[in-house]
Amino acid sequence: MTMNEYINEAESVLLHTYNRYPVVFDHGKGVKLYDLEGKEYLDFCAGIAVFALGYGNEEYNSALKAQIDKLIHTSNLFYSVPAIEAAKGLAKISGMDRVFFTNSGAEAIEGAIKSARKYAYDKDGKTDHEIIAMNHSFHGRTMGALSVTGKKQYREPFCPMIGNIRYAEFNDYESVLGNVNDRTCAIIMETIQGEGGIYPAEQEFLEKIRKLCDERDILLILDEIQCGMGRSGSMFAYEAYGIRPDIVTVAKAVGCGVPVGAFMMTQKVADRALKPGDHGTTYGGNPLVTAAVCEVLKQFEERRVIDNVRTVGEYLYASLEQIANEYDCVTAHRGRGLIQGIELDPDKKSAAEVCRKAIESGLIIITAGTNTIRFIPPLIITKEDVDSMIGILKNVLG
Ligand SMILES: *Cc1c(COP(=O)(O)O)cnc(C)c1O
Repeated sequence: MTMNEYINEAESVLLHTYNRYPVVFDHGKGVKLYDLEGKEYLDFCAGIAVFALGYGNEEYNSALKAQIDKLIHTSNLFYSVPAIEAAKGLAKISGMDRVFFTNSGAEAIEGAIKSARKYAYDKDGKTDHEIIAMNHSFHGRTMGALSVTGKKQYREPFCPMIGNIRYAEFNDYESVLGNVNDRTCAIIMETIQGEGGIYPAEQEFLEKIRKLCDERDILLILDEIQCGMGRSGSMFAYEAYGIRPDIVTVAKAVGCGVPVGAFMMTQKVADRALKPGDHGTTYGGNPLVTAAVCEVLKQFEERRVIDNVRTVGEYLYASLEQIANEYDCVTAHRGRGLIQGIELDPDKKSAAEVCRKAIESGLIIITAGTNTIRFIPPLIITKEDVDSMIGILKNVLG
């Protein structure tokens, strides 16, 4: 069948929840993807911040194949070596003490919410605790994760939400403070808002929030599902702020392509949070996906991935600054490391249209927030890849 025939079949059988780009990918190599017709694409999307270590990664593939031949799944009623090793590795890089593996980012958020509510319940036995979430945030599509997602049009058709959620303005301390009361059990935010348009938390804002949480024994949940795992230029974005959250969520690049995520917490939270019978998952953290996590952590170290993010991230920053100065349709440039965005003036250019044209020209870029183009490439890209990307982007911005 031709690519178009496959696309027509897809549209007759898959639930239409995405307006997909008209491409069927067949295989990948490094930072390039190839469609069914053999056309090459430079990938600045990485499967939405997932495939950090590049496609056709032989060591990663071998590690997974070896685990498949050994043992794929046992359930969480038993121990497995890959899960133990992966948990040790994640605790070490995050500064957290306890790890629970999930199948996705949204499930990690569910676990974080449950942990925070249980922590507060264990303290005072009340069942009316509140969580403060940020406007323009994104935490996933399940009911709990959606309830803390700060985008009304995502939530409204599915109301009622889980309840007792308040929404504050990101990077506006007074707005958060105004929502705090005796029932507040947690504040949840992305350290760098991703879907919302690539907005990093401001240093002073995050420091003040940390202090507020310490003073009132409110748990700070940082969602690092998109900005974590090296993407910001440190293993977790919060490292650069010199603070530590109480609960962290990861997913996306933590398994580089297999469905795995995790929520992690300090011992202080674990002592009051989830106990036997409080939470569970059949697949979560099975030997196959945690073998992938172990291999990802190994490659991050061996290939000095974070050093590359810093070097190439700075280069990308300088290159996009130049674009922002050269093209008057570009109104803002934000981000750090390899999570950056440029915002376009909607009267001059549509970000969605630019992405569509870029993909036709062999460059995969995607949108975020309001009329923003998002750059979240594999973390192993080179300066030459950035130059190639800029070349195509300039043509498309025309
Ligand atoms: C992608 C994402 C999620 C949801 O992850 P899924 O694996 O799609 O459920 C949650 N939070 C952030 C910040 C994300 O980028």
